[in-house]
Amino acid sequence: MTSIPTISFNDGRAIPQLGIGVWQIPESELPVIVSEAIKIGWRLIDGAFIYANEAAMGQGIRQSGIDRSELFVTSKVWNNEQGYDKARKAIDDSLNRIGLDYLDLALIHWPCPAQNNYVETWKALIAAKADGQLRSIGVSNFNADHLDRIIDSTGEVPVLNQIEVNPRMQQADMRAENTRRGIVTQAWTPLGQSASFRAPEITTISKRTGKTPVQIILRWHLQLGVSVIPRSSKARHLIENFDIFDFELTSEDMSAIAKLDAGVRCGPDPATFEDA
Ligand code: NAD
Repeated sequence: MTSIPTISFNDGRAIPQLGIGVWQIPESELPVIVSEAIKIGWRLIDGAFIYANEAAMGQGIRQSGIDRSELFVTSKVWNNEQGYDKARKAIDDSLNRIGLDYLDLALIHWPCPAQNNYVETWKALIAAKADGQLRSIGVSNFNADHLDRIIDSTGEVPVLNQIEVNPRMQQADMRAENTRRGIVTQAWTPLGQSASFRAPEITTISKRTGKTPVQIILRWHLQLGVSVIPRSSKARHLIENFDIFDFELTSEDMSAIAKLDAGVRCGPDPATFEDA
């Protein structure tokens, strides 16, 4: 079975570079999808409280029969769970719902700067890690100023920042800000709502390599050095999206894809997003 490359964290641990995202996958379908994915070789599962399917994610993990230590499970603290006490309870609740006694990674889902609670939320993650509930702690959708504030306030550097990255929203600056601080970038909505599947820059490489546009885009993420978490609810997509370790994009291919950057987001702007 193909083994997935890992990226080292600043806390001595490591994360598989490729994983599945489970946003918007109905609870009724998720146990089968998770257990099928694990059989194919997927090891990283990216969940969140707000996806409302944590229990089904846990069911899929148990159905797969895999040893817990082989997996890397992420969840996230939602915007209305911010603040020290609420975030500690949110982590307890996520663990109970998934049916695990630790998470490999917990993230603050969004900074919600107007709420101004993310430093206290970060302290809750630090405490939950000290208590053994979390192996590693990180953030999502944090801009450079948000990162600096939690680092300056606590001395604890997140291991990872999960942000939107896809060919039309490449985030070179934010990726560099993460790297400069020793933080791994993880790409959400990596396929960018299909917007680049038919771009000539992608289809030309697809024809030459015999790989699909989705495989080209996922391979581009791997070669950027980010961790990437495509969602899929179809078995054939789980197989296709995993089959990206037997070819390489050339530097010309990487430059061609770089030209697709339009700075256009699929999701909200972290500086202003406050939905609870
Ligand atoms: P994605 O970029 O992974 O795209 C998913 C879509 O692509 C689905 O419609 C799926 O059916 C389709 N697809 C997948 N494989 C395909 C294939 N081989 N061929 C054709 N179509 C294919 O989008 P996403 O779900 O928005 O993002 C991935 C994950 O990132 C989420 O599931 C979630 O875990 C995470 N996420 C996090 C945040 C955040 O704020 N931290 C925000 C959005 C998503």
